[in-house]
Amino acid sequence: MSKRDVMAYYHIWTIGCQMNQADSEQLAAYLEKLGYQYAHEIEKANLIVLNSCVVRQSAENRVLGKLDSLKELKRLSPDTVVALAGCMVDSEVAQLKHRFPHVDLFLKPGQFNELLELAKARTPKAPDSFTISTLSPTAFVTIIEGCNNFCSYCIVPYRRGREKSHPIAELRCQVESLVQRGVKEITLLGQNVDSYGHDLPDKPGLADLFQELNSIERLSRIRFLTSHPKDMSRKLIQAVASLEKVCEHISLPVQAGDDEILQAMGRGYTVQSYRELVEQIRCAIPTVALATDIIVGFPGETEEQFQRTIELLSDLRFDTVHVAAYSPRTGTSAAKKLKEDVPSLEKKRRLQKVEELQSIVASGINARLSGHTLEVLVEGKKKGKWYGRTRTDKLVFFEDEANWLGQLVNIEVKKTSPWALQGSLKSG
Ligand code: SAM
Ligand code: SF4
Repeated sequence: MSKRDVMAYYHIWTIGCQMNQADSEQLAAYLEKLGYQYAHEIEKANLIVLNSCVVRQSAENRVLGKLDSLKELKRLSPDTVVALAGCMVDSEVAQLKHRFPHVDLFLKPGQFNELLELAKARTPKAPDSFTISTLSPTAFVTIIEGCNNFCSYCIVPYRRGREKSHPIAELRCQVESLVQRGVKEITLLGQNVDSYGHDLPDKPGLADLFQELNSIERLSRIRFLTSHPKDMSRKLIQAVASLEKVCEHISLPVQAGDDEILQAMGRGYTVQSYRELVEQIRCAIPTVALATDIIVGFPGETEEQFQRTIELLSDLRFDTVHVAAYSPRTGTSAAKKLKEDVPSLEKKRRLQKVEELQSIVASGINARLSGHTLEVLVEGKKKGKWYGRTRTDKLVFFEDEANWLGQLVNIEVKKTSPWALQGSLKSG
């Protein structure tokens, strides 16, 4: 049998933010276009990609564990191509090669050309028509790469580079082709989507992009993340309030509830200005759901300062809170200049406090939805139940015999928890 008759399989393991997921989805689409098929079992694949994250030590440890587990596989089948992609890949590729000799390729975030050239050379056969194996009604679309903010704790700008927006016309084409494949909901991605367009010739903003995409027929929903509190404009809030396809869900990381800590983080806003922004958003979009991110145990964070974060969370009552313990990242200014003085047990305690509080808050917010009918886009089936999300990003489960995948359905909420809603299909 010639090499060109042998079927080629790929496996992509992804960890980290939605931008990594978006990069992996894009890579999978390219590989399938070349005739590769997705292999569930990593052992079956002749091309393996680990799309890594190093935003915290815990994520980095998981990548290291995964890399380690591939040593034996590579020894037994040396022809298998192993690629390390994503934020673990810095400019010191020679050092990485030395550390991980069983890895064939090192690819910076989103930069898959070298891998695709190699995949092309090994392609068994070009498919007659291009079909994607995982048809989902939702898709990520990266609208702005990189980040210019350099928050003192964050490694992202060092690994993903400076901000670079994709032109509106290019994004419209991309979304139209997704819609043709059956996608109904897109999530526009960027580390800071609110600064979209400042680097493009006529400086369009995110609101202009919303306006353009809102007119695409058969596209039902537009989501966007992540917003930066210092860059969220009135125009943008008005666009979310007025454009029917733009979902009333905003991810607005605050990170801390104390001004000194915010300053040391280099976030560029105060607690008061953040509170005013939330008030403005809630006034313009009364049904809005807000999500935020918190870092506990930042260098120098006292108990008093931590209590201000707790106070902010109890006052503002977010729908979702992602909380992380501060993890020093080599090369960032916080790691260089600030002493890590909050013991890890104390960080853990603070993290649990935030989680406990949020569980009570979310439980209250969701309980109020009981008896309401909500529009849900059905994304799949798990343990015999259909699941999907509301416009406000609430996860909803329901049971029904018919096939509802990719449909917008109305669900009457019967049961609620802090994390999800259970309901039943409303006919008519
Ligand atoms: N660009 C977004 C923003 O401005 O918040 C989020 C990007 S960041 C990759 C995702 C989250 O990871 C951040 O919101 C922050 O809470 C967390 N994070 C980033 N660096 C961290 C660190 N060194 N230690 C702990 N958490 C960190
Ligand atoms: Fe990291 Fe700050 Fe940029 Fe978000 S805005 S990616 S936290 S540097």
